[in-house]
Amino acid sequence: MITISPTHFTEIKEHGTEAYPEECCGAMLGRRDANGAKVTEHIVRIENNWEDRPGESKHRRFAVTAEDYKALEAEAKERGLTLLGFYHTHPDHPAEPSGTDLSYAWPFFSYIILNVTNREPGQLNSFELNVDTEKFEPEEIQVS
Ligand SMILES: [Zn+2]
Repeated sequence: MITISPTHFTEIKEHGTEAYPEECCGAMLGRRDANGAKVTEHIVRIENNWEDRPGESKHRRFAVTAEDYKALEAEAKERGLTLLGFYHTHPDHPAEPSGTDLSYAWPFFSYIILNVTNREPGQLNSFELNVDTEKFEPEEIQVS
């Protein structure tokens, strides 16, 4: 389970609305409680750099690079937090993971997907990679 505050929920929705009709992505930093549930403490925007990859459109895909990942781990450490996972938007598409999303997924992280339709934030879902089946499973997400 992952809990995000209303403020962080708003930050993600604002990012998605600003980036529309392109995808945007970012990361959630925070803590795990005694039961392993994730609680977000900080949201970090990640530059959408897919444009640099020939033949691919920002609208369809996002990518977190090894440099992004290192920078996020460093920022988390500096703040005394843990990297909990990533969010990205699906402009005019359902908040369900694509095959590309699955191919970039790492275990233990939360993958939050926000649908944005006509510049309006829609459904928000979270997924976790099941290491045994190598498929995404829905993760309970709580805004409180
Ligand atoms: Zn996606």
